[in-house]
Amino acid sequence: MDYVELACKLIEFDTSNPPGDQSECADYLADYLGEFSNVRVYEKDGVKNVLAELAFSKSGPTLAFNGHWDTVPWSPEAWVTHPLKPVVHGGWLYGRGAADMKGGLAAIILAFEEVSGLENLEGKLILMAVGDEETGGFKGTRYLLSRTGLRPDYVLIGETTDLLLKVGRRGIIQAKLRVYGDEMHSSRVYLSYVSSIEICSELTLLVRKLDPGDAGDIMPRTTFAVTIFEAGVKENVIPRTANLHIDIRNTPKVTRSDVESLLRRELERLKEKYGDFNYELDVREAAKPYMIRDSHLVRVLEYVYRKLGLTPVHDAGGGASDGRFFVEEGVRNVVEVGPIGENIHGINEKVEVESIFQTQKIYIEAASAILGSDKS
Ligand SMILES: [Zn+2]
Repeated sequence: MDYVELACKLIEFDTSNPPGDQSECADYLADYLGEFSNVRVYEKDGVKNVLAELAFSKSGPTLAFNGHWDTVPWSPEAWVTHPLKPVVHGGWLYGRGAADMKGGLAAIILAFEEVSGLENLEGKLILMAVGDEETGGFKGTRYLLSRTGLRPDYVLIGETTDLLLKVGRRGIIQAKLRVYGDEMHSSRVYLSYVSSIEICSELTLLVRKLDPGDAGDIMPRTTFAVTIFEAGVKENVIPRTANLHIDIRNTPKVTRSDVESLLRRELERLKEKYGDFNYELDVREAAKPYMIRDSHLVRVLEYVYRKLGLTPVHDAGGGASDGRFFVEEGVRNVVEVGPIGENIHGINEKVEVESIFQTQKIYIEAASAILGSDKS
């Protein structure tokens, strides 16, 4: 099968997450990979994770390819084509998951298949085709690592990176805030009172501009965004409470406690303007940030890129990914690299066809360089 056929085949399976517990795509992958590798399936709460292995020798390094088969949900109304009926047009493949990340998954599966036929390799090549990535990865990559104890020496993740070498990711910190003001009749606002809605509104605007001054050369600064604002009980009541959810994406230079201090400082300042008020603030780390640009894997990929006539460029933008789970387990050789995509999670999602093939070549060359027993 070629990479376009396989990518199309994968897109045709509805793997929307939520619910994320569809098994047809994972069953298909397990069958396909079972033709030429040792396959085991690890299921967690209905999510099937496929672990395929090629063992070349008892000793030697372990390289893992990682990709997820789940996608975000879809509704066909605004699409030009149907999200589950893949179409190639003008050099792009359209469909839900084309870019995130069934195109990349097809590339790494075919690279894995090709490496299975190469000679003079040592160590192991693993392929992890996981679910649950779109809802946190705890039943997917996180579960597989805990359940199997697998700790690869090298990890390549086939997410769409526009062929950039993604060497870092910001983390996620979630802050929940409840502000207590004065409850009263809405007709009496000529009296002095503390408004929980006004405080939360001002904070919503303030946090957008918060800048801890931590922007790196390739990583964006820590950002704060209010994503949920809840307030109000009745048309004629000034509500006592208002709630904010603040989504924070942090660099390795900013910690959970730094974020909490920043938010508390802003809240204390607001007391000077609005008068004293009570609040509850709960700040939690949901994903750790990382940035590793000096690993052996990065050097190998730079060599592979030059060999293929490509220019290696480092990147560290975007949201969190399954890469963090490997970093949490002490793996330093973690890089995401995958095809060129557009409209990820959006309508008319697409992946550039040629870049799927380039991804496949990068993965084959990287495996040859890392597992090659001929080091001359
Ligand atoms: Zn993805």
